[in-house]
Amino acid sequence: MCMNLSDDVKFIKGVGPKRASALARLNIRTVEDLITFFPRTYQDRTKVTKISDIVFNNQYCIFGKIKNVFSKNVSKFISLFVVEITDGTGNISAVFYRKVSPYAKFDIFASMRKNFIPEKFVYVYGTLEYKFANRQISVDDYEIVENSSDIPKNFKKIIPIYDLTAGITQKNMLAYTTTVVNAATHLYPDAISNNPKYKTRLMPIRQAIKELHFPTSLENAEQARKSFALQEFLLMQIVLTKARQKNIIKQKTNTYKITREFLTPFKNKLKFEFTKGQKKAINEIFFDMMSSKGMNRMLMGDVGSGKTVVALSAILLAIENGYQAAIIAPTEILAEQHFLTFKNLLDGLNIKIELLTSSNLRTKSKREEILSSVESGAANIVVGTHSVMEERVKFKNLSLVVIDEQHRFGVLQKAALLAKGKVIDILMMTATPIPRGLAMTMYGDISISVIKELPPNRIPIKTFCFSEQQAYTEALEEISRGNQIFIIYPLIDESDKTELKSAVKEAETLAATVFKNNRIALLHGKMAPKEKNEIMQRFKNKEFDILVATTVIEVGIDIPNATMIIIQHADRYGLATLHQLRGRVGRGTKQSYCILVSSAKGQNSAQRLAIMTQTNDGFKIAEEDLKMRGPGDFTGTIQHGFPEFKAGNIVKDVEIIEYTKNVAQDIIKNDPTLSLPENEKIKQLINGKKYSELSKIIQVG
Ligand code: ADP
Ligand code: MG
Repeated sequence: MCMNLSDDVKFIKGVGPKRASALARLNIRTVEDLITFFPRTYQDRTKVTKISDIVFNNQYCIFGKIKNVFSKNVSKFISLFVVEITDGTGNISAVFYRKVSPYAKFDIFASMRKNFIPEKFVYVYGTLEYKFANRQISVDDYEIVENSSDIPKNFKKIIPIYDLTAGITQKNMLAYTTTVVNAATHLYPDAISNNPKYKTRLMPIRQAIKELHFPTSLENAEQARKSFALQEFLLMQIVLTKARQKNIIKQKTNTYKITREFLTPFKNKLKFEFTKGQKKAINEIFFDMMSSKGMNRMLMGDVGSGKTVVALSAILLAIENGYQAAIIAPTEILAEQHFLTFKNLLDGLNIKIELLTSSNLRTKSKREEILSSVESGAANIVVGTHSVMEERVKFKNLSLVVIDEQHRFGVLQKAALLAKGKVIDILMMTATPIPRGLAMTMYGDISISVIKELPPNRIPIKTFCFSEQQAYTEALEEISRGNQIFIIYPLIDESDKTELKSAVKEAETLAATVFKNNRIALLHGKMAPKEKNEIMQRFKNKEFDILVATTVIEVGIDIPNATMIIIQHADRYGLATLHQLRGRVGRGTKQSYCILVSSAKGQNSAQRLAIMTQTNDGFKIAEEDLKMRGPGDFTGTIQHGFPEFKAGNIVKDVEIIEYTKNVAQDIIKNDPTLSLPENEKIKQLINGKKYSELSKIIQVG
């Protein structure tokens, strides 16, 4: 079969338009997407276990002769199909459970009866279970062969397990990848493994693709993954290196002097002393700002560590010197919150603050007023969302940009664009602890400040794993003390519709039952920004006891009177997200609680949630998250804005990233335009779809 990498998957044998749209949900649209859709994990079916050796509760691969077949009803709704198998060492039943309608007239096992013919041979993969002291295997997969010496298709080897979506089974996926890997792998570009310089580290890319889908051993699969990752990271590093070269540090023209015109009254007005960590961060930031190079600093501090006032100190230094400063937040709610906080903290000082969000810019008169205030220099501080970075927003003399809780790489780079030729100071703030080495490789030459402690007199949040009923009982008690509560619902699956339904439906149910005597409000991502703001403001004004929300409240919201957060389906989140969510409470002087409600069974998820009950330290939690390699939301958070890596993992593969950074610098040094024949493939690839996006984002200066 003749195929191109760019061909639509719907033309692949067995796919068609309906399954193609299912595949699109997994971001698989072309042959290339499918070739690089690597398995999530593998099932090792290389070893066939003798029936007599099957003892422990585990998964097994067995092979034997079919002796007998029968079916029976287990209950009104469940039927069982039983295949008795012998292999000379013993006998065992392989069983299939099927749901049945009590009214069904046809035999749901008809096709199985046709396949499982006594005296034929069968391979079975499944899990051992005991029923009334009898061993049996609950079947995951099977394959029937005529003769005992026939070579099976999907047994006696390692089988890839893919992520799935509704309408696509493992069998479908395996069939599709088998087709495309066979027909098109030879077309996949190999940029480096022919280059003798790097050969030793690599399995050739095309071999790696085959090994990743159909490994000859698990060790080879890992070696293949690393090889493919190396190519991915090298291409990224080449793009980054080229961009940085264009941007070699220019001298900045802004000069700052600490006059204390605003800093002193601001400090006097604060109701607290800065913590040690805050003082140190402010010193480091001021030092950077007063140096002759543009600042490129990241401020890391756990949720609630007080990053906002540190940022405001930097902003005040800029405006004391006659410059403008901007702070960019990821959501309108957060931007508005910063705006109000700043207004409050700077009340009485001669400082003009503008709020620049898309809803605030909607009416023409207001838009013109705000934009001209920014352009004329009347506005000293601009607080906003990414609207701040739009073309139409012109500053008179912007010198500092603060980017809050925003890990999107593109945003950082676009912020640099704001300088429009000038060197600008940039401060990023995050509650996600990013390992230093990783930050350096991903963001270039960046300096890092860390606030290690929380402000004093904070009462640590207490975290519990409770049943839903228990959680509600506690909630009612908390409300009776005049405190407020968040109840959080997750995205149930990838479709937003489900998210809406669950939070919306639950809010209704709760309002009609457990909390019928309480005031309850709802907040979710599909609401208009204005509506969201209004709900948040009213919650802050204590007009509601309970706010039912999706994770839209994940970052930054500051409501000191909210003392309890109940997180439903807590097992569905990564630890980093849970920690962020938990940080929505414990912001005042009262004891706060985080209650995790989870119905998930399984040791792994219990263990993960237990970590939450044991520590409030975000850095420790991120570390544990990495160790357990859970749903990887920590990785997802830092990776945001980079191209999707198919095999590479930016947390696990730091060493490879470092290596490729050096290789990339070498390559660019020797061949800045990538014109040498050995670099031809690299050039072609970085001009392709995936990396050209990245190049566009980082075209700076
Ligand atoms: P984050 O680092 O998560 O952005 P915030 O800047 O929102 O944290 O600060 C959380 C709360 O702590 C705010 O209400 C802020 O006023 C308060 N805060 C900040 N610094 C101090 C301090 N040194 N002492 C006491 N409270 C502080
Ligand atoms: Mg914050």
